[in-house]
Amino acid sequence: MQDAEREAFDVIVVGAGNAAFTAALAARAEGARVLVLEKASQKLRGGNTRFTGGIFRCTYNGLVDLIPIVRGNDNPETVTLDPYTRADFLKDLERVTGGRADPALSGVLVDRSYETVRWLADLGVVWEFNRAVGAVTLAGAAKVKLPFGGALRVKGEGVVLSSTLFRLAEEADIPIRYETQAQRIITAPDGRVAGVEVRGPEGARVLNCGALVLASGGFQANPEMRTAYLGPNWSLVKVRGTRFNTGEMTRAALATGAQGYGEWSGCHATPIDADAPTYGELRLTDKTNRLSYPFSVMVNLDGDRFVDEGEDFNLYTYAKMGREILQQRSATTFQIFDRKTLPLLETRYNTGTPVTAESLIELADRLAERYGSLSFRKADFLKTLEAYNAAVQEGVFNPDTLDGKRTVGLRPDKTNWATRLDAPPFQAYAATVGITFTFGGIRINADAAVVDYLERPIPGLFATGEMTGGFFYLNYPGGAGLMRGAVFGRIAGTNAARCARG
Ligand SMILES: Cc1cc2nc3c(=O)[nH]c(=O)nc-3n(C[C@H](O)[C@H](O)[C@H](O)COP(=O)(O)OP(=O)(O)OC[C@H]3O[C@@H](n4cnc5c(N)ncnc54)[C@H](O)[C@@H]3O)c2cc1C
Repeated sequence: MQDAEREAFDVIVVGAGNAAFTAALAARAEGARVLVLEKASQKLRGGNTRFTGGIFRCTYNGLVDLIPIVRGNDNPETVTLDPYTRADFLKDLERVTGGRADPALSGVLVDRSYETVRWLADLGVVWEFNRAVGAVTLAGAAKVKLPFGGALRVKGEGVVLSSTLFRLAEEADIPIRYETQAQRIITAPDGRVAGVEVRGPEGARVLNCGALVLASGGFQANPEMRTAYLGPNWSLVKVRGTRFNTGEMTRAALATGAQGYGEWSGCHATPIDADAPTYGELRLTDKTNRLSYPFSVMVNLDGDRFVDEGEDFNLYTYAKMGREILQQRSATTFQIFDRKTLPLLETRYNTGTPVTAESLIELADRLAERYGSLSFRKADFLKTLEAYNAAVQEGVFNPDTLDGKRTVGLRPDKTNWATRLDAPPFQAYAATVGITFTFGGIRINADAAVVDYLERPIPGLFATGEMTGGFFYLNYPGGAGLMRGAVFGRIAGTNAARCARG
């Protein structure tokens, strides 16, 4: 593309994940000439989106609302669920963020969640019921109980979501430029966005556009920014997803006058396999996650419990659990299960190599053999498990509900799903911290327009997805990330196209 005219686009979208493509497709549907910039190579394209479990949190009144989305790709007879209303979704956002989530942005996210999933289904994204994460199959029950609010996922998960979005973009004649890193936002003398400076295979150049949509993810893969914003211990954690989300366009937006918003010292970080690679690998995608801990006893290298494993269902605690593990020595913990709880493990645990034993003493010996170099404290470990077993109260264990079967007198207590570790075989899975994405970012308004510190939109600048702030603080309800990116991606693309046409 040497011709200067062909280098000008109505809308340029930075990034090639879920947030970016929902924006690109919506802008194209408005008749805009759209270009997508992807920093990664064609082989490694697709951002965090490609790594996801494909779960989208949305509102629904019951199966009746989900059948038109799943469209014969799954069997509704095999599942049950509770309705997930507007009030439920808003309450979840408020509850897990300690009341900090921006009410206007939350309102748009919730109100447009269902219609956006339907829009994606109409575009060609194929859906199924989410039986994999947070769902429960009770022994002997015919139906799977789907997680509250997280009942849907893309069939084939993030890998297929990503390939579908690339295909839809190609079919819509949206060119994608690979190995092209956006670096700087170009503004006209009147402050309106006029283009973006990029560095690609042909070197540095400026691409002109009528509107720019930023969808280049958080800064979680940048150890320098992690250290600066999250704190020193975060520089060494493993990154669950793409290595390309390093925050340069977040910085570029701030340099253009965008308002920084949200919890810049916060992030989504989960327990992952202690042997997981330093950055996400596409052969494993999200399979290193270790989220069955509510049914486990979690103990650190010093032999201490440090958290209420059963505070809530995993989709409401997993995103903050990484931070708890980071505070433990060597950021390492063991999740201990026995014969009663092992059947409840997510299938993702198959990618790990647990330590197995017929007694707790043998388990302690084996852990000491394997983790001796980390000074695992075997005697304290056994003392903790003994105290835990003694503190477990009678009651009915029910993984399908917050069963209130708890311990009493421990610090901290386990407040749901507390069963004694008394049925061999025992298994211990070692877990560490994997960062998923950062919570702080650029402030947008309900139109997905980037605003300055006076809350005035910067003309021609829009943003969506992980690079926006103000949605999530301290914690996050599972499946809200993809939903946020798609809701505001669609809004950003539509408004960017209209803005570009003046
Ligand atoms: C293992 C894993 C599992 C997950 N599972 C779920 C789930 O099931 N449900 C859910 O809601 N969320 C999930 N998430 C969170 C998920 O990451 C986000 O919700 C969502 O994928 C983010 O989409 P995005 O488009 O904002 O960012 P991304 O998908 O990360 O896209 C960012 C894009 O920007 C590109 N880029 C970065 N910098 C530049 C630049 N300077 N120039 C050009 N391009 C650039 C990147 O290469 C990438 O293509 C998961 C995350 C991980 C890591």
